[in-house]
Amino acid sequence: MFNLEDVAEAWRYLPGVSAVVGAEVDRALPDIVRTLLDGGDLTEHPGVVVPDGRPMRKALPLRNLDDAPVPDFTDFPWDRYPVRIVPLMTGRGCQWDKCLFCSDVISASGRTFRTRSVESVLLEMQEQSDRHSTTNFLFLDLKLNSWPGMIRGIARDIGRYVRGAEWIGTVHVDRRSDNGLSRQDLDIAVEGGMRRVSFGLESGSQRLLDAMQKGSDVERNAQFIRDAHSAGLSVRCTMFRGFPGETAEDMEATVRFLEEHKERIDRIRFNEFTLHLGTPIWRTMMSRAAGDVPLQIRRQDSKQARVIYRNREPRVPAYRKAKAHALALVHEINRRPLRDAARQFDGLM
Ligand code: SF4
Repeated sequence: MFNLEDVAEAWRYLPGVSAVVGAEVDRALPDIVRTLLDGGDLTEHPGVVVPDGRPMRKALPLRNLDDAPVPDFTDFPWDRYPVRIVPLMTGRGCQWDKCLFCSDVISASGRTFRTRSVESVLLEMQEQSDRHSTTNFLFLDLKLNSWPGMIRGIARDIGRYVRGAEWIGTVHVDRRSDNGLSRQDLDIAVEGGMRRVSFGLESGSQRLLDAMQKGSDVERNAQFIRDAHSAGLSVRCTMFRGFPGETAEDMEATVRFLEEHKERIDRIRFNEFTLHLGTPIWRTMMSRAAGDVPLQIRRQDSKQARVIYRNREPRVPAYRKAKAHALALVHEINRRPLRDAARQFDGLM
């Protein structure tokens, strides 16, 4: 988030900070460090600010991700962990790019969607597997199915590069006629080593999903959970409460959804809504007259790239009751052991 001016400003004057970088530095980092060590001008590098107050030159997103070097985890203390799980990314950004609350797609690396080739991803997995004697991988992409060919390509071909590979990743159950997540796709993904899938369920209320511009349907989310579970995947969801305008009826719809699907969901992360700087919902909240928005803005916490607010809407007893019910369901789900096939990934995602 250092690509956001306010955030970079909040950090660059901290004692001991030489520079703040809001850019994808996969290729540029060695040059930036060399410039620092040589006492050169760090601001010649796009996306870098120093504590002297000069403005940042914006860094463009990286164009060709296949040119980025394979991360070097040689110095990572692998021996302190029970399982070796190598993180990697197949692309940056998100092809949907529209959810009003999403801070990922305004960060330095998420601004536009770009994908690597399937082959470069498979070669990286092979190289990391050889280097670190492991077959476990964690995809850190915002979503693995922005380009459905990626998740399919990994599932279909990974066996030729890493025998016995097992992997987990995040997807978006979006409305495209082909989003790469059909029942057949999921069966093939499991055959190709996928063990766990995470997705942004957000809410069980269609009204609220539409208000967020999530681009997904409650019924399609439900079908995905059924399909992923019966294909053998451990299913994890992220959700949040407190989106501006959320009502007791929305929370009750979430409760009904969780009741219906709790046996097929392995883990839920259920956050409080955060108003992040630079997001579309933040722009709306800041641009409308102060008394006209459901959130009362208290202060900007630029270091954390967020705004501290108070929800003006009174939380009626029906809302509080439904929220308590939803939290009880989340607790019931999260205290169960994970599906056996996904155990080594417990605690990730
Ligand atoms: S689908 Fe996910 S990554 Fe894409 S905009 Fe929405 S929340 Fe952000």
